[in-house]
Amino acid sequence: MQTLDILIIGGGIGGLTSAIALRRDGHAVTVIERDPDWSVYGVGIIQQANVVRAMSDLGLIDDYLSAGFGFDHVSVRIPTGREVARIPTPRLVPDLPSNVGIGRRALHKVLGDRAIAAGATIRLGIVVSNLHDDGDGVDVMFSDGSSGRYDIVVGADGLYSQTRTMIFPDAPRPQFTGQSVWRYNFPRTPDVTGLCAFEGPTGVGLVPLSDDIMYMYVTTAEPGNPRFARESLASVMRDRLSGVPAPEIRALADQISDDDAVVYKPLEWLFLEEAWHRGRVVLLGDAVHATTPHLGQGAGMAIEDSIVLAEELARADTPEAAFTAFHARRVERCRYIVEQSHAICMGQLGKGPLIQNADATRAMFIKVSEPI
Ligand SMILES: Cc1cc2nc3c(=O)[nH]c(=O)nc-3n(C[C@H](O)[C@H](O)[C@H](O)COP(=O)(O)OP(=O)(O)OC[C@H]3O[C@@H](n4cnc5c(N)ncnc54)[C@H](O)[C@@H]3O)c2cc1C
Repeated sequence: MQTLDILIIGGGIGGLTSAIALRRDGHAVTVIERDPDWSVYGVGIIQQANVVRAMSDLGLIDDYLSAGFGFDHVSVRIPTGREVARIPTPRLVPDLPSNVGIGRRALHKVLGDRAIAAGATIRLGIVVSNLHDDGDGVDVMFSDGSSGRYDIVVGADGLYSQTRTMIFPDAPRPQFTGQSVWRYNFPRTPDVTGLCAFEGPTGVGLVPLSDDIMYMYVTTAEPGNPRFARESLASVMRDRLSGVPAPEIRALADQISDDDAVVYKPLEWLFLEEAWHRGRVVLLGDAVHATTPHLGQGAGMAIEDSIVLAEELARADTPEAAFTAFHARRVERCRYIVEQSHAICMGQLGKGPLIQNADATRAMFIKVSEPI
């Protein structure tokens, strides 16, 4: 297809990797972001070999690895803290690690800097107030009173996507699972050189994010989806860790004191089975396949989406053909991640068969190693 004028709604992970991939093909790209400060909360994420491959494809690998912490194993620890297995994880790209832990702010900076350097226009603090697709293009009104006409619009505006609501008003809403995650950053301890997963009724893990920083995640059942006052978050997180016997975790729990540094997140999920586009407006990332983090693949799926969307736009004669091919290439893989992650979550909550995390992770590695 010829080069297009493209609006991306959402300057998060999928929106920015889309901007990078689409600029590479010469399209004119504008990204709008609702948050005037373009801020990102301060803990981190884990990404696996398929994301390392995708970052390499996007030409981002050096900046990405400098900003994160690469590793090639998962350390499995029993509740008392003793390491009982060190599982090697397979590389997909020779000489590049099979996992990366990276701070969300660090990842955001890598992606944002590159999108700007690649020539994307970034507009902060605005949302779409109206979209009109007349078949030949999309007229867009923005909340600041400005307007524009675009060949296509990409909705990368996350779990509570406004774009999804605009084009699919009857789409399912995100659902709370009954489980939440608590996260906190610490100075990295020297023995945390890969993901350390502690077995036991409370799911706890430590993830290196850089030479200096690691974060802890704690998954807990939170029936009824309670709300916690900000000034109580540190004490509630410490309380949630009170039954974990590992001395390392106990020592870290004692350091959880800053309510503002606790990131608490009820876990929600959503999957749109049917088409991910209507006319010239297409959705990607959490807007159509938001997963719980049990396999650490949500952002990875959004990043892969952006590469596949750019490839299909380059190949097809019309946006409709490109979006249909994009959905066909992505739907089964994204469904797998959402369903398997949800099944692990339900097993942990006693609402489904217990799934061994190590088995599910091994199967996931095989699945996501397939070409995108
Ligand atoms: C607790 C937790 C842990 C996770 N851990 C991992 C992990 O370890 N590894 C992993 O790969 N994934 C992880 N994920 C998933 C990952 O965070 C998401 O899948 C990923 O952020 C999705 O990217 P996205 O671009 O679709 O959405 P987002 O990153 O949410 O970006 C959406 C952007 O759109 C903006 N926006 C929203 N509405 C509008 C609007 N109307 N107009 C304009 N802009 C708008 C938002 O401000 C935001 O910047 C985790 C998720 C959770 C909840």
